Amino acid sequence: MTAAVTWFLEMASAFSHAVAAAAIGSAFYRRGLPARFWVLGAACAIVPDADVIGVALGVPFRSLLGHRGLSHSLAFAAVLAALVVPVFFARMRTEASPARLWLYFFLATASHGVLDALTNGGPGIAFFAPFDNARYFLRWRPVVVSPIGIRPFFSAWGLRVIESELLWIWLPSLMFVAMTILVRKRLGAAVARSQM
Ligand SMILES: [Zn+2]
Repeated sequence: MTAAVTWFLEMASAFSHAVAAAAIGSAFYRRGLPARFWVLGAACAIVPDADVIGVALGVPFRSLLGHRGLSHSLAFAAVLAALVVPVFFARMRTEASPARLWLYFFLATASHGVLDALTNGGPGIAFFAPFDNARYFLRWRPVVVSPIGIRPFFSAWGLRVIESELLWIWLPSLMFVAMTILVRKRLGAAVARSQM
């Protein structure tokens, strides 16, 4: 497989993480929030895979700072969210409280590790790093692993990666967004009725 196809698959997987973050964001969005609410949510969901830069520079693949290590942990998600909120949303007049924003960016970042834990290959996820570098997968792993950090693979594999991400990440994300839109409409209608 060519480097271009590898690159495309890595981008597709990054997109899948961003789609999941956007779906989570649909439940947390409040009027008055700027576009960076979405952009930063997507960035938080993608950034854990920056660990491959360290691996390329010589960090051992399965070490604490290796692939799916500290950057995929819940602690990393908590700290990243705690940095994003005051830096990008300080003194903003919105209906979204800092705690609500923190929870969104935490979930957007943590969703990356959870989705990786649904994949059928690669190293497990160090959810509890830096306290514990044990690697975990979920019991159910329907998502075909994307080629990050894995060398030999074939175009048929690439297609299966995209297919499984569409089925197990994009489709549930769209369903979740549709559900939040429906719930918001119902809540809005109920509030309007109560004010009549
Ligand atoms: Zn990852």
